[in-house]
Amino acid sequence: MPTINDLLIATRRRLEDADDLEAGLEAEVLVMHVLGIARTQLYTHRGDVAEAAAVAALDAAVARRVTGEPLAYVTGQREFYALDFLVDKRVLIPRPETELLVDEALAWLRGHFGQRLAIADVGTGSGAIAVSIARNYPGGAVYAIDASPSALEVAATNAERLGVAGRVMLLEGDLLRPLQAPVDLIIANLPYVREDQMPLWCGATQVELAFEPFDALCGGPDGLDAIRRLLQQAPASLREGGAVMLEIGADQGEAVTQLALQAFPEGRVRLKKDLAGLDRMIIAEARPPSRRFVPPH
Ligand code: GLN
Repeated sequence: MPTINDLLIATRRRLEDADDLEAGLEAEVLVMHVLGIARTQLYTHRGDVAEAAAVAALDAAVARRVTGEPLAYVTGQREFYALDFLVDKRVLIPRPETELLVDEALAWLRGHFGQRLAIADVGTGSGAIAVSIARNYPGGAVYAIDASPSALEVAATNAERLGVAGRVMLLEGDLLRPLQAPVDLIIANLPYVREDQMPLWCGATQVELAFEPFDALCGGPDGLDAIRRLLQQAPASLREGGAVMLEIGADQGEAVTQLALQAFPEGRVRLKKDLAGLDRMIIAEARPPSRRFVPPH
C-alpha cells in the first residue's frame, strides 16, 4: 500500500497533468481532506501507510478536480473571514474579496455603538456574509435572504455549525421583499456578471465558474439586473440613517453610483477598492452626514 508521501506525489502529478497551476498545494489539501488530518500531521506522518478506503476516496476526489470542479466543492468547504463554511454546488463559493464587505459592514455597525441594529444579507448563498457578521457583531439581528431554497439549506447548516443559528433569520424570497420591517444595514453580493461574459467563464482559466449556480453569477445584459432592483427596493426597506453595501464588478463603479444616487438622491455614495486595486464595493448611506441631527450644546 502507498504511503502518504506516495499519495502526495501521485496526486500532484495527476493535477499537474491536468494543468492545475496550484497542483502542489491542492494535492496537499485533497490528501488532508480524505485522511481527515491537519497540515502538521501531513508532514509528521509522511511515511505512514494509507488505508485502501482513503486511497479510493482520494482517487475519486482527484477525478472530480481534474474535470475542473472547484476544489471547494470537492472538499465541501471553504474558509471565509477565518470561519470554515460548508459549500456545495447549491451555492456560490465565497471569494476572498467579499471579506471587504464584511470589514466595511462591521466598521459601520461598530460606529453605531450601543444600538441594536438589524442587518439584511440579500442573496446570502452559503451564508458567508450573514454568519461572519453575526459572529463578529453579537448585538445585531441578521436576516439572511435568498430566492433559492436549496441555498438557504446550506446557509442554515453554516449558521448552525458556526453557532449563530439563533441570531441569523433565514428568509426565502425575492431580494428585500421577505423583510417584515425595515433594517439598518443592507448588504449584498448579488449576481453581477454580464450575460455576454458568462460563456467566457467557460474558457481555459474560468472553467470552474461553470460549476457554480448560474443565478448566483449572471446579472443580465449589463450585469446590473439584481443590483438595480435591489436599489429600487432599498429606500422602503431602510431605517433612517441606514446604509446599503454592495459588491460590484470592477467596471461597474460609475453605473452603480448613478443607480445608488437615483435611489438616495440626498445620500452619500462611496466606492471602495479591493486589495487588487479594483472597484469592488459601493456604500450608499441614505442621508449625508451633514443632515444628521446634531444635539445642541
Ligand atoms: N466575483 C465573482 C466572480 O468573478 C462574481 C460574483 C458575483 O457575481 N457576485 O467570479
